[in-house]
Amino acid sequence: MLLDKLSIREVQNQVSTGKIHLSDVVSAFLTAIDSRKGLNAFLHVFAHESLQRADQIEARLKAGTAGPLAGAIIAVKDNIALKQQKLTCGSNILSEFISPYDATIIQKLHAADAIIIGKTNMDEFAMGSSSEHSAFSKVRNPHNTKCVPGGSSGGSAAAIAAHLCNGAIGSDTGGSIRQPAAFCGVYGLKPTYGRVSRFGLVAFASSLDQIGPFANSVEDLALLLQTLCGVDERDSTTAQVAVPDADAALAEIDLTGKVIGMPDEFFPDDLASDIAESIATTRNAFEQRGARVIEVSLPLTNYSMPTYYIICTAEAASNLSRYDGAHFGYRAKDVRDLEEMYTKSRSEGFGDEVKRRIMLGTFVQSAGYYDAYYKRAMRARTLLRKEYEKVLQQCDFLLTPTTPTTAFQIGQKQDPLSMYLSDIFTVSANLTGLPALSVPAGRDRNGLPIGVQLIGRAFDEASLLQAAKLLEDIQKNVSST
Ligand code: GLN
Repeated sequence: MLLDKLSIREVQNQVSTGKIHLSDVVSAFLTAIDSRKGLNAFLHVFAHESLQRADQIEARLKAGTAGPLAGAIIAVKDNIALKQQKLTCGSNILSEFISPYDATIIQKLHAADAIIIGKTNMDEFAMGSSSEHSAFSKVRNPHNTKCVPGGSSGGSAAAIAAHLCNGAIGSDTGGSIRQPAAFCGVYGLKPTYGRVSRFGLVAFASSLDQIGPFANSVEDLALLLQTLCGVDERDSTTAQVAVPDADAALAEIDLTGKVIGMPDEFFPDDLASDIAESIATTRNAFEQRGARVIEVSLPLTNYSMPTYYIICTAEAASNLSRYDGAHFGYRAKDVRDLEEMYTKSRSEGFGDEVKRRIMLGTFVQSAGYYDAYYKRAMRARTLLRKEYEKVLQQCDFLLTPTTPTTAFQIGQKQDPLSMYLSDIFTVSANLTGLPALSVPAGRDRNGLPIGVQLIGRAFDEASLLQAAKLLEDIQKNVSST
């Protein structure tokens, strides 16, 4: 039996019935992590703690008192706080920083009896689309190690794709869960803004950031989501909305009467042809299961990219002002005064992309330019939101590509703008706050995974999970025949 290929529920069943030991599952993952070190997916691995917890959780599974995530072995992106462990955000400025507390989602994972096996590599402060911009090492795509895994949660996506864990957590500000999920051929969900507490997530752009799960199956994804969700008094943006029940979300899959929109603007002429074909196959699958697919238009899509980069840099500039050498992390040596301490600590501690964003964000909020950039971006965001609301009155959810291309080569995108454009299809869901899920949908001619994106109505993750489950079942049938 391949222990590292079992789903969370399979691990649960096999351990409770005494067929396997949970510590053997953890060991299998630890061995896999070690043998795939070259992927640079992990920054920290908690071997000892994980094995110890495995025995305790096994006892609870056998006694029938275990939590819903017993058997889940989870990798967490290194911008989420885990008490007494390093919290680097992929940055030199925090390379020695130890978190004094647990993020809310960590408390929830622990309470549900999940085991956190390690923390994953990422683009510095979650800024990037390739996971090449970690201060420590570049993450590689398990499907082709010459390629990037996507980013910024590339470590978590690669860890799931290479079966180094059976659940992973990332953060998504403009696509950082969905884009790497697509590049690595796994499921990745950005929940509705307000679904999951961000207490303990290191802030990048607070009005856009969301925490969400990666998994190798829709069932595992739904189980993880269920545990992460819920209102939290420590994050005032969390909403008092019923938490979706994983089983209910997947119980009855019927698309009869559902209307699925395909927005014209997400299908440009230069969309990679393999991706366009995957979308056509997905569309057919939905239609055959009773859904009606209609073409819709979201004309403001062209403005989503500039709007995103104004808002996210503005928020980043202010969020990152706390790294000043005094409050957190790295402090430069040999400085003469306070000002030099700030300047030198930040100059030495931050990488180029982070500095670029801080400068851009400071510029768009500066006295002479605030109205021309920041204020206009805020207006554009409101209009975009209205446009989505209107279209989602006509349809239950949208079907789009997750990315314009499949994974690109490490080092291929040198200019920031071409890197930014890899998120062209993902940023709108962050600007509007809507839930969006990337579903694996075959491979391109080079064998690299393709992802399709489903964007839903606010707090309707259940419809997205159901649609993804249907696609998963179809793919399973195809591969077994
Ligand atoms: N790639 C996008 C950026 O660089 C999104 C990052 C993210 O979602 N954290 O801003």
